[in-house]
Amino acid sequence: MKKHNFSAGPSILPDFTIKNTAEAVVNFAGTGLSVMEVSHRDKEFMAVMDQATTLFKELLDIPSGYQVVFLGGGASMQFCMVPYNLLNKKAAYLNTGTWASKAIKEAKFFGDVVEVGSSKDENYSYIPKGYTIPADADYFHITTNNTIFGTEIREDLDVNVPLVADMSSDIFSRPIDVSKYGIIYGGAQKNLAPSGVAFAIVKEDILGKTDRPIPTMLNYKTHIDNDSMFNTPPVLPVFSALQTLIWLKDQGGVAAMEKRNIRKANMLYSEIERNKLFKATVKHEEDRSVMNICFVMNEEYKELETAFREYAISLG
Ligand code: PMP
Repeated sequence: MKKHNFSAGPSILPDFTIKNTAEAVVNFAGTGLSVMEVSHRDKEFMAVMDQATTLFKELLDIPSGYQVVFLGGGASMQFCMVPYNLLNKKAAYLNTGTWASKAIKEAKFFGDVVEVGSSKDENYSYIPKGYTIPADADYFHITTNNTIFGTEIREDLDVNVPLVADMSSDIFSRPIDVSKYGIIYGGAQKNLAPSGVAFAIVKEDILGKTDRPIPTMLNYKTHIDNDSMFNTPPVLPVFSALQTLIWLKDQGGVAAMEKRNIRKANMLYSEIERNKLFKATVKHEEDRSVMNICFVMNEEYKELETAFREYAISLG
């Protein structure tokens, strides 16, 4: 029997995705070859990339003027691609956790980084509020779901500069108003596909505003102009991503996912509240992630941690 995996990522994928990927590993689209053995320029794979891009746009209701690209290098590569392509002088970042800090570190290679707010003082257990974004910042970067600390920004912020969001661990978990963002990016290995592919939703008119020469592979324009086929894309993860997108549509899309996620999160949070063994780590309810529900054993039951873990393992 399949086991549960409560880890934030890489995480559980739909059976539909696993089964169809397993079949395509053996015989892809009736070609008599594995998806790992065909050319990415064969019409069968071109159709996969095309359909994945189209469904991605459809499911998130992405307006015109935006392009979706699939890239290698994970979300971590986006930490440097974003400033490489957008940062002229100054960028604003919200420091909400490990991944936000890593994004900040990379941006500093390209210009001034203003940390407009940080929750580091309290082990990232809340989302900073009431900060001011300098009007001359080239963009403002947020991490919508802080995978490790279990906080989430669940509204599409209205800000005075282009908004860039790392949505690695909450993409497709709720409807989003893409028009409020300049770039949304993430690794796919949480909600979409196995690791190996990242996605970026890019508003085309925010590109081309820096004088800095950008190496070909790190330039969003290269991948937009070549429909994610400038070089050999990660074909297997893209194939799997397509399966998840088909499944998502069949389930009712992101609105249905949001309902399902809220129901699951409420179930966990209310048990954590009720059960004296446990304590949620995020201070304010409104900051709590619907994606990864972080909790610890209460101080007086700390010594039961191993026993609890073993009990959970014994139940799969
Ligand atoms: N951002 C967030 C929010 C993440 O959760 C992760 C991975 N856990 C990353 C970035 C890094 O992703 P990758 O491993 O794809 O570089």
